[in-house]
Amino acid sequence: MPIDFRRSWSDEDLELYRDNVVRFIETEMLPHDEEARRRGHVGHEIWRKAGALGLLCADIPEEFGGGGGDFRHEAVFYEECARRGLSGMSTSVHAIVAHYFLNHGTEEQKRNYLPRMARGELVGAIAMTEPGAGSDLQGVRTRAEKKDGGYLINGSKTFITNGFLAGVVLVVAKTDPSQGAKGTSILIVETGGCPGFRVGRVLDKIGMKAQDTSELFFDDVRVGADALLGGVEGQGFFQLMGDLPYERTIIGLSAQATMEGAYQATLDYVRDRKAFGKPIAEFQNTRFKLAEIATQIKVGRAFIDRCVEDLVAGRLDTATASMAKLWGSETQGRVVDECLQLFGGYGFMSEYMVARMYADARVQRIYGGTNEIMKEVISRAL
Ligand SMILES: Cc1cc2nc3c(=O)[nH]c(=O)nc-3n(C[C@H](O)[C@H](O)[C@H](O)COP(=O)(O)OP(=O)(O)OC[C@H]3O[C@@H](n4cnc5c(N)ncnc54)[C@H](O)[C@@H]3O)c2cc1C
Repeated sequence: MPIDFRRSWSDEDLELYRDNVVRFIETEMLPHDEEARRRGHVGHEIWRKAGALGLLCADIPEEFGGGGGDFRHEAVFYEECARRGLSGMSTSVHAIVAHYFLNHGTEEQKRNYLPRMARGELVGAIAMTEPGAGSDLQGVRTRAEKKDGGYLINGSKTFITNGFLAGVVLVVAKTDPSQGAKGTSILIVETGGCPGFRVGRVLDKIGMKAQDTSELFFDDVRVGADALLGGVEGQGFFQLMGDLPYERTIIGLSAQATMEGAYQATLDYVRDRKAFGKPIAEFQNTRFKLAEIATQIKVGRAFIDRCVEDLVAGRLDTATASMAKLWGSETQGRVVDECLQLFGGYGFMSEYMVARMYADARVQRIYGGTNEIMKEVISRAL
């Protein structure tokens, strides 16, 4: 059964937009993916190219340089990359950063950063995690101390997506350590020529090899008072919580599109590959495995499409989005594993997409809030 590529939230205009996205991915991204995986990042040029074609910040209003669309436009990009096992360019983290500016930034901050992000001149990153604080963000130790009318930032961050290429980093820091969550703020750091800011290693991961994940160091980094996101101290946690449905839907959607891509590739492979004188697609085990996978894909598509519709309508709650992240990433792990098995030894070879998808899938259960934290969030809403 071929994949039914219709989405409940799509329409003719979006499918035309999808054609553009696919053209860009296939001509500009796919041919360079192997090199990017070797290097550990995709480089700046591809970001500028995507920006020039209007493919970045697609759901940011035109007045701030964005595409003027909604989440469905962003979704198209995530889906088409995930279906092809491409994980190098984290347009999702870029979009999440753009949304922090859009939803919480001052007018000046929006006008300063969003157009440059939309053009791909500034790659966005969000730096929450530290060596000593991941799930429990209240344990963040990075300090933004008020000094000379601005802030002095000291601390270190790790596992930061887009960290190596980032031109703008949103740094979660304590502005008042005595206040716990209420003493946490988000500071904007523009990395170009910023004294005291240093990018550490591009971290060596088991998957997502083309995506730059880095350590960031802040040693007496001076920023002005206008670097405080939204201009009011102590809003950090509130700002972080507001965008959780957006972030978690992206992970659920990428999981879904990865499963669809893996399924399609597996179907093609098992029809072609022969053993014991017939295509392996004809063995009952192969047919049953694919039947199970196709069923999970259909069920998953119905749920994630509903999440996308609700997100666009502004009514997706955090618990449901957490379910999309939890179920999507867990199912992705199982489905991609089953697909890989049907490739036999070739499935273990990095040159095969299914092998890369297998390695990439693992982190989906960890980042964006671990799946254990998702269960905490969901159970609190029961
Ligand atoms: C590839 C990659 C990209 C990332 N990108 C970013 C980024 O762009 N920005 C950023 O800030 N961070 C990023 N992260 C960090 C990521 O969000 C954290 O790794 C994640 O939140 C978990 O934190 P931790 O690694 O400190 O694990 P810990 O919090 O130490 O957790 C360890 C284990 O304990 C479990 N655990 C913790 N608390 C509980 C609890 N209350 N109940 C039950 N179990 C619990 C966890 O689920 C996990 O299994 C990235 C990580 C990776 C691997």
